[in-house]
Amino acid sequence: MTTTLQPLDVAAIRKDFPLLSRTLNGKPVIYLDSAVSGQMPLAVIERMSHYEREEHTNVHRGVSTLSQEATDRFEEAREKVRAFLGAASTREIVWTRGATEALNLVAQSFGRMVVQAGDEILLSAMEHHANIVPWQMLAQEKGATIKVIPMNDAGELILESLDELITERTRILGVTHVSNVLGTVNPVKEITARAHARGVSVVVDGAQAVPHLAVDVRDLDADFYAFSGHKLSGPTGIGALYGKLAHLEAMPPWQGGGSMIRSVSWEKTTYMPAPAKFEAGTPPIAAAIGLGAALDYVQALGLDRIAAHEHELLAYATERMAVIPGLRILGNAKDKASVLSFVVEGIHPHDLGSILDSEGVVVRAGHHCAQPVMTRFHIPATTRASFAYFNTREEVDILVSAVMKAIELFK
Ligand code: PLP
Repeated sequence: MTTTLQPLDVAAIRKDFPLLSRTLNGKPVIYLDSAVSGQMPLAVIERMSHYEREEHTNVHRGVSTLSQEATDRFEEAREKVRAFLGAASTREIVWTRGATEALNLVAQSFGRMVVQAGDEILLSAMEHHANIVPWQMLAQEKGATIKVIPMNDAGELILESLDELITERTRILGVTHVSNVLGTVNPVKEITARAHARGVSVVVDGAQAVPHLAVDVRDLDADFYAFSGHKLSGPTGIGALYGKLAHLEAMPPWQGGGSMIRSVSWEKTTYMPAPAKFEAGTPPIAAAIGLGAALDYVQALGLDRIAAHEHELLAYATERMAVIPGLRILGNAKDKASVLSFVVEGIHPHDLGSILDSEGVVVRAGHHCAQPVMTRFHIPATTRASFAYFNTREEVDILVSAVMKAIELFK
């Protein structure tokens, strides 16, 4: 039986985003940069403001009613993340500052534990620097080697290479669920199964996936899954790491301080169980509660409806952009999410980005913190439009007109 999804009421949704009614350089703002950072709906902004005005204190500190209330709200937000990712327990959800910190945590705690001199770490060719540099730092420290899963010209990983690339020395495989440059949705479940069959643990960078796809970490079976709040309609400064409990329990802490200890003496310090063991110091409490409100918001819209809307926009934008003379789209994977990267002959992506900006169109121009992807495609940078559930076809039309205008200017 096929069920028809009720389309999103985009006009109503847009009223939840004050920034969408402002102007930029005298033009209505067209926000096509959600892959950099999503906008927050009023429900999130107001929830954080309510916390700061009426509930603010520290968490996990003593018996005051206020602190207990804040702790309850903070832990409720953790439960929302657990449910959102389909994890078995809140003990598997560690608060972090974002995906970057989550991936550094895995490298510095789990990685240090399992990687030894001569071992290998396998990363996909389309990783963001956040899932490259922490592993390079670890490899350097341990005398390990980084190997790379290549991709084809469409921006799809060449999975046939996996059997050869995974060796007796491979300890960890790191892969992004969705590429921030190419939009490719990687078959993480299949990759994980193949890595596990060879005894390799899998770390997934979900920063660009969670805003667009329903993720079920138990179904994917990845060992770790990292994401950031600010790409998911939440605030900056908060993110989370999912880790299988057995790993988190076995892993050493990575930062020391308050909240992560059970007892401290000059002779011996003992640690709290996971996840507290990984959460030293005062966390960003308002941001965590705000992220919880963001999850409520996107779940109320429905991730399947969000995905359908964004797919439709991506298909429309691809169709319109593909016929612009001199424009080349990077990333033509069969399974793509919400990102359209392109280069235009004779115009540097930064110049193109500036012209679009003068038209009120916000996009990102640059290497997108994925320089190895730029090298793979022999380009210095791309211009990237990224779509969210509040964007419209009319906005895509304005993007297309602005690109055409830039091409005229550079003739
Ligand atoms: N991974 C991917 C795929 C990203 O796109 C980003 C941000 O652009 C990150 C990781 C890093 O996220 P954050 O800067 O929020 O830690």
